[in-house]
Amino acid sequence: MPFATVNPATGETEKTFPAHTPAEVEARLQRAADAFATYRRTTFVDRARHLISTAELFEGEQPDIARMLTTEMGKTFASAKGEVSKCALGLRWFAEHAEQLLADEPIPTAAGRSYVHYQPLGPVLAVMPWNFPLWQVIRFAAPALMVGNVGLLKHASNVPQTAQFLEDVFRRAGVPEGVFTNLFVESKDVAALIEDPRIVAVTLTGSERAGMSVASTAGHALKKSVLELGGSDPFIVTESADLDVAVRTAVTARVQNNGQSCIAAKRFIVVEPVADEFLARFIDAMDALVVGDPLDPATDVGPIVTEVQRAELVEQIEEARRQGAVVHGGQVLSDRPGWFLKPAVLEGVTPDMRVASEELFGPVAIVERVPDLGAAIAVANSTTFGLGSSVWTNDEDDRRRCIEELEAGAVFVNAMVASTPELPFGGIKRSGFGRELSQLGLKEFCNAKTVWIA
Ligand code: NAP
Repeated sequence: MPFATVNPATGETEKTFPAHTPAEVEARLQRAADAFATYRRTTFVDRARHLISTAELFEGEQPDIARMLTTEMGKTFASAKGEVSKCALGLRWFAEHAEQLLADEPIPTAAGRSYVHYQPLGPVLAVMPWNFPLWQVIRFAAPALMVGNVGLLKHASNVPQTAQFLEDVFRRAGVPEGVFTNLFVESKDVAALIEDPRIVAVTLTGSERAGMSVASTAGHALKKSVLELGGSDPFIVTESADLDVAVRTAVTARVQNNGQSCIAAKRFIVVEPVADEFLARFIDAMDALVVGDPLDPATDVGPIVTEVQRAELVEQIEEARRQGAVVHGGQVLSDRPGWFLKPAVLEGVTPDMRVASEELFGPVAIVERVPDLGAAIAVANSTTFGLGSSVWTNDEDDRRRCIEELEAGAVFVNAMVASTPELPFGGIKRSGFGRELSQLGLKEFCNAKTVWIA
């Protein structure tokens, strides 16, 4: 069965769902196309009402929804509850701000009146990952629905309960049928969907491999695409950093979501004068983390999402060890079912090692020592990724230099990288293109129609 909840904490298959048949997919696509014809003419007030009702359901059912997330992909119950709250926040933010952000933009011209008028495009396909199974979808759906588009979801095959829940919750909130549709289809079926004339655009959050496939199909079909792909975010620690806060935040930034976040800090680049102290404190703090049952409030780090993903992490760690890195932690916890891995810190990583340039999608940190800030920026920019970046400094010149020179979609100073509805989110280089959230995200799937009234 391609769509199954396999609990990463136990290895047990808890629920399976059959794929939609070709006839069901066709009916769902047509329903979405039909829904768009009406939905595009609804008012901002109507759309906002639906999103706020959806937010209220998230808030009212938070513990049950969070338990579903924990069971499907292993994040701790506390972080699952946080994700549910964040979805409610995102829904409310777009409900409250979309009308103003999409208002006509007057532009002075020789015409009597000129302006840009924003209109919806049509049914948009969203191909989404399992790591923030609710939030990734909401941050696509909330702006899309406020614009007047309709959404179709192809979710990751290991989070089918969340996929089904999302379709249901929008319906329960009063969103008209066909405006948000879940498709139980496999990744091999995505190309045909993108090519279908009823789909006008596609957004994908996921791996580079999936991004290349989706973007090339969309390019061939001449359709707009937005890609949110992987990252290997640098976390630069300079001499003037407040080390207490930097170390504490470094741990959170690395192990949030069991280390499986695109914007998790993955490479800790530390200038030599503070490297010994940072490293010693960071290793101790990572070692002290409690790994275990994600439903237990005492747990800091839950299981890795699948056995295959854990094996990949172990291989990345072992290869670094063979190449000369010193590994702290990183043991497979084989005394229990599920796919647990003790968090690891890899010391002595050099730019030529594979881990220095690959994404580590789990609680594994690499530490690179550099002589000064110039070298730190060079190492930070040395990967093919460009998603987020974090720099720890209390020096104004250093701060300015990092903001200017780091090749990333975001620079957070004295803070870990985070996403919030009002700020644009996205990457450069092989981390993708386009932006989600904020005014920029809202306008990604709009027709910015130029109006000239002579
Ligand atoms: P993934 O394997 O690429 O899967 C993501 C989605 O794409 C799933 O729905 C998957 O379906 C589908 N898919 C996979 N291969 C495809 C293909 N060839 N054509 C069309 N669809 C395809 O990624 P993942 O392992 O679930 O997620 C982890 C990755 O996502 C990491 O690299 C992470 O950094 C990235 N990510 C990026 C962001 C961001 O905002 N930049 C946010 C979160 C995660 P199936 O499950 O059916 O294969």
